[in-house]
Amino acid sequence: MSTPQPAAESSPAGLPTATVILKPKRARPFFGRHPWVLDSAIGSIDGSPADGEVVDLATHDGHFVARGLWNSKSRIRVRLYAFDAAARLDDQFFTDRILSAVALRRDLGLDAPEAAARLVNSEGDDLSGLIVDRYGKYLAVQITALAMAERLETICNALERALSPKGILLRGAERGLSKLEGLSLADRVVRGDAPTGPIFVEEHGLKFGVDLTEGQKTGYYLDQRDNRQAAARYARGRRVLDMFCYSGGFAVSCAVSGGARSVLAVDASVKATALARANADLNGAANVTAEAADAFEKLDALAAAGERFGMVVLDPPKFARSRSTVDDALRAYHRINRVGVGLLEPGGVLVTCTCSGSVSRDDFLQMLSGVAQRARRSIQILECRGAAPDHPVSASCLEGEYLTCVIARVV
Ligand code: SAH
Repeated sequence: MSTPQPAAESSPAGLPTATVILKPKRARPFFGRHPWVLDSAIGSIDGSPADGEVVDLATHDGHFVARGLWNSKSRIRVRLYAFDAAARLDDQFFTDRILSAVALRRDLGLDAPEAAARLVNSEGDDLSGLIVDRYGKYLAVQITALAMAERLETICNALERALSPKGILLRGAERGLSKLEGLSLADRVVRGDAPTGPIFVEEHGLKFGVDLTEGQKTGYYLDQRDNRQAAARYARGRRVLDMFCYSGGFAVSCAVSGGARSVLAVDASVKATALARANADLNGAANVTAEAADAFEKLDALAAAGERFGMVVLDPPKFARSRSTVDDALRAYHRINRVGVGLLEPGGVLVTCTCSGSVSRDDFLQMLSGVAQRARRSIQILECRGAAPDHPVSASCLEGEYLTCVIARVV
C-alpha cells in the first residue's frame, strides 16, 4: 500500500517561503514562460527555502516573474509552474493541472478502456518533472523532479479520482536523471496492485502486450503510436525490415494494418525480439520473423548478402545523450541510414527516426541529405513527423521536442 511522503510542510498554502532573485538581464526566458531556472541565472536568494518548497522568482530589482519549486541539489534550481502572482502551488493547483492533462487525452480520443496513452508529459503539460502513462487500467508514474516526488500523494489522489486505476506503479527515471535531481526513488507499487503478467493494450485496432514491471522506459513506446500507423500505410505488398524493433510495434503494424508481404524485425535484446514475436502472434501475423542481432552488424550483413527490401524502418535508441555527443550521434545516424538506403529497392520507403533531443530536426534532415549524396540516390521526403499528440511540446520549452520520424521514398 501507499507510504506517505514528506509534504512541503512549511508552505501548506502553496505560497512562497523565499524569493529567488535573478542576475540582471537574465529574466527574459522566464517572462517567456520557460520553466527551468538554472543555477547560473540566479544572483541571490532572499530566505532559505527547503528543497521542494514554493519560491518566487524575481528580477534583480524585485519584480515578480513567476512562482515555482526549489531544489538546491539540481542544476535546475527552480522549476516554474505559475506565472501569475495570485497562484497558490497547493494540492488543488497540481490536481487541476493533472485533470486538465487527462481531459486533453479524452479530447484526443485516447480514453478507450484498453487504450494506452501518455496522460502527463512533463513540461508539455506544464508539470515539469512528471510523466504519467496509462496502460489500460494501470498507470505508470515517472518522476524526474524532487518537488514532484514530494507531491506523489497528491498526484496519486488526483489520478485515482480521475481514472480509478487498478494500480499505480512508480517507475524509476532514466539513469543519471535521478542523480541530477538528488532523487532516490525505487520502482514500486504506490496504489492498488501491480499486474501479475503482461497487460494487453490496443493501438489503432492492434493488440500489444506490455510488461509494465520489466519493460523498457515505461513499458512501451507510446510516442511512436501514430508513426507506426503512418508507416503501415506505405507497407502494402512490401518486404519490410524493422530495425530496432523492441516489441514489434512497426513490424506488426506494417504486417497487419499495412499488408506487408513479410517483415524481418531485429533488435539486440533477446527479450525484445521475444516480445515482438509474441505481439506478432497475438495479431495473427505469421509473416513476421523476429531476430536478435546487433543492428550495425546485421545491416552490414544484409547489404553484403545483397538483400533488398521495399521498406526499411530505423528506430534506434537515443544516440546523443548530450550536446557534446551530437557529432558522434549524427555519424551513427548517417551510418545506419546509409546502409538502410542501400538495402532499399528503387522506389522503396525509408522510415527513419531520431529520439535524441539534442539532435535537431534540421541536423537530422541534413544528415539525410548527406546520405542521399553518398548513396547517389534521390530521397523524397514524404512526411516529417513528431511524437503523437498525447506527447505535447510546450512552445515555451522546445527542449521537450525530441522525436523526429521521416518517411521518405528512395528512388
Ligand atoms: N521501434 C520500437 C522502439 C525501439 S526502441 C517501437 O516502436 O516500439 C530502440 C530499441 O533499440 C530497443 O529495443 C533496444 O533494445 C534496441 N537496440 C539498442 N541498441 C541496439 C543495437 N546496437 N542493435 C540492435 N538493437 C539495438
